Formats: sequence, structure tokens, C-alpha cells
Amino acid sequence: LRILVLGNGGREHALAWRLAQSPNVDHIYVAPGNAGTKLEPKTTNLDDIPSTDFARLVEFAVKNDISLVIPGPEQPLVDGVETHFRKVGIPVFGPSPKAARMEGSKAFSKDFMTRHNIPTARFQTFQSSQLEEATAHINTIDYPVVLKASGLAAGKGVLIPESKEEAIAGLREIFVARAFGDAGDEVVIEEFMTGPEISILAFSDGYTIVPLPAAQDHKRIGDGDKGPNTGGMGAYAPAPVATPEILERIMKESLQPTIDGMRREGFPFIGLLFTGFMLTEAGPKVLEYNVRFGDPETEALMLLLDPEVDLASVLLAAAEHRLDSVEITTKPGSAVTVVLASQGYPGSYENGKAISIGDLPPDVVVFQAGTKTSGNGIVTAGGRVLAVSAYGPNLEGALAAVYKAIDNIEFEGKTFRRDIAHRALNASKE
Ligand code: ATP
Repeated sequence: LRILVLGNGGREHALAWRLAQSPNVDHIYVAPGNAGTKLEPKTTNLDDIPSTDFARLVEFAVKNDISLVIPGPEQPLVDGVETHFRKVGIPVFGPSPKAARMEGSKAFSKDFMTRHNIPTARFQTFQSSQLEEATAHINTIDYPVVLKASGLAAGKGVLIPESKEEAIAGLREIFVARAFGDAGDEVVIEEFMTGPEISILAFSDGYTIVPLPAAQDHKRIGDGDKGPNTGGMGAYAPAPVATPEILERIMKESLQPTIDGMRREGFPFIGLLFTGFMLTEAGPKVLEYNVRFGDPETEALMLLLDPEVDLASVLLAAAEHRLDSVEITTKPGSAVTVVLASQGYPGSYENGKAISIGDLPPDVVVFQAGTKTSGNGIVTAGGRVLAVSAYGPNLEGALAAVYKAIDNIEFEGKTFRRDIAHRALNASKE
């Protein structure tokens, strides 16, 4: 197999790392890739083709006999990259633009959930021309709300107001001040829920859905979930709050109905469906869908897959609607990823800081995200720089290995959370 991966983050490095281990893979191209992807065996970066230039990507894929395309980020999927490759007969592990609306439009995914009785928070949707109606709605209802820009807002499009006044001010921010640009042309006003959150990443071929162990991410920059939201500062799996009973319920009430509903409505889901859940007192409810691998959940989950699992064959089987023909199993222990970020992230930060990676304990893998080659070494080139990941026979072991490795990695301004997986650790102490 000859594979083309689109993207340049830690997620794409983790995918390339895992794909390179597959005996069925002859070569991996990553467009554009980063300083880490190009160090993997059988892997080449296509630095000069951005993941948005579909025409050139297709031309490259045809000329180089690519057998499978794996888009990393959501934007190319929402923009229709799958259609471009389908037209030339190259399978894509990723949804059509219609199916990608499940992430691209929260208004769309909420309506979908209503049609299919999938448990989610109560909501109503308003257009930017409906400021008055939306304000009246907030004044009428008797429950606290969250406001969500319907379009893609890089994980930053959700406001959690603490009062009706704040909610109405938030509406004005989105509709009048256009805080989220076009992504805020439509707003979902949703009931505020409470409970632990989990993420389920699942492979699907449009018929079958195979979930990986539940993960928990850490969105805020600071320890104790303080400070602004980021792309994700760490993740671990499995999350013990997701008991077998909860997972069974999620499969039956949410995941299988989502896959069946999408197929029946004419936009089957092929790819990685990432569903965020809140485990409320009334049961697990869907917070959102993403239509691609999560970052940093993927880095942890790639370490949790059984060594015998041939990722390339799994993804190709999904793209060819025969996911039931492959085995997807995971190891018994835990995996953890801790992100090392640049100082200042998610605000402004400086690039170009030299990175040194010393000795690493066994079972630790450093996936690179915002990095660049410079002379013989690598330097920082982004907000999230490295995703340090470890597998351990238990969570404590994996965490100890990750933090030991981090002590041996240096760059000026190295910023990271010291409390990844705190929820699981606290729960096990109770
Ligand atoms: P992501 O970066 O995860 O893709 P997003 O901007 O697409 O985020 P959501 O996942 O819908 O948006 O919401 C982001 C976060 O806001 C959730 O992880 C959750 O903590 C909080 N949140 C969202 N909806 C609700 C809700 N109804 N009640 C309480 N908190 C919520």
C-alpha cells in the first residue's frame, strides 16, 4: 500500500508512526508533514503541497499510485477533499462533504440527532438576523444555556455564560461583533449540562462502527482546568468513568443510530467518527461530533492498539465498506499523552527555539507537532510543539514514564500540564 496522509500535527505523526509499522505499507507521504513525520521509516514529507491544494494532491496521488488517502484535519474534509479523490478512484478514509457537516455545522448535527432520537441537550437554532428572537428565547426558558457558533471555529466557538444577561451579551458578541466570523452566522442555544466528559473515537465503514477505548482530553492550558481553551494539552485512555455499561448504552443509543441514520439519509459515514459525550445523571448525551481523529487523543490511542493490528488494513477496509472483515483490539493497560507547548500559547508565542530530546524510557514515543528542521536539529514552529506519549500496564505507570521523559526534553519556554489524567487518579483514590 502507498498512503497519503494530509496534515502536519502530532496526530498525523502518530498515524504515520503506526502506519509505518504495517508490513503491508510500502510508502507513506505526508502533506505537508512536520520534522517528526519525515524521520519515520518509509515516510516522505510533501512540504510544498499544502493540505488545501486538492488539485495538486490529486495529481500527485494519481502519478504516485496512492492506494489510500487519510485526511487528518476537519477543514479539508468539510471542503470536500473526499470527492476529489473519489472522482479519480482513490479510496479515502474520511467522510464525504455531506457527512462532514456533522462537524461543520452544529445546527445540522443537532437536527440530525433530533430526527434519530439520539440523546443530546435540548436546543434551538437561530440565524444572525434573529437577534431579537434569540434574546426572547433566552428570556423565556428556565434553564441555563451554552451558546455555540454553528460553523467551524477551531474548538473555540462555545460560550458558557453564567447568567441570562451574560448569555444575551454573548449573543451580541457572536451576531453583532462577529466574534467567530462566519462560523457564528448561526447559533445553537443549548441547555447547559453537567457531568464528566469522554470522547469516543470509532472507525466506521458506513455500516459497522468499532469504537476504541474511551479517552479524556484536557482542553484548558493550565493545571486544574484553569485558563483559556487550547487545541488540547493532553489525553489518556481508557477513561475509567466509561464503564462497560455506559459504553454499551452509548453504542446502542448513540453510535449505531448515528451510523445507521447517516446511511439511511444518504450520506454514509466512512472514516473516524469522534463523538464527545457528557455523562449526565439522565445518561450519556452527545455534546458534539467530529469527523476525524482527535488530537491529542490519537497519539495516546495509537499506543494502545494491539501490536498485531495493522492500521493501514483497518483504514482501507473501512474505506472499502468491509470493516467487519478486520480485527481491532487494544492492549490491556493505559496510554497517556502530554502536550509540550510554546510559552504564551494559546495566545502569541515565539518560534525557533532549539529542542533537545534526551534519553527516553521504554514505551515512550515523542510525536512532533509544531516543529521544524533547522541545521542538524529541530526547533519549535507552533503552539503545540510535542506530544509526549507513553503506554503502561496501568495509568500510574504510563504517567510516570511520560513525566520522566518530559524531564529529558528541553526547549526555552516549555509549557505543559502536570495533572493530565487527574480525574481518573482522583476517582481511584475515592
Ligand atoms: P471541540 O474543540 O471539542 O471540537 P467545540 O468548539 O466543537 O469543541 P463542543 O465540544 O460542543 O464544541 O463544546 C466544547 C466544550 O464546551 C465541551 O467540551 C464542554 O466542556 C462544553 N460544553 C459544550 N456543550 C455543553 C453543554 N450543553 N453543557 C455544558 N457544557 C458544554
